[in-house]
Amino acid sequence: MKRDEILSRALGPAAPELTCEQCFEELDRYVELVVSGERADERVPGMHAHLDGCPACAEDFRSLRDLVARQED
Ligand SMILES: [Zn+2]
Repeated sequence: MKRDEILSRALGPAAPELTCEQCFEELDRYVELVVSGERADERVPGMHAHLDGCPACAEDFRSLRDLVARQED
């Protein structure tokens, strides 16, 4: 069984993982939700799973989050 199949069985259809492209498109919105304390993982399904498995996007997320968090102060 391929890794992707194992993952999709473990997570189920309710937790699809985004691609890097989708992640990039949703990152602004996701960061806004995280910083404002909304349920970001419910509003942008698959983002958390993607950030867990993609160091490049996780780094983008951290940079943007820190930037937005600083602006909110
Ligand atoms: Zn990615």
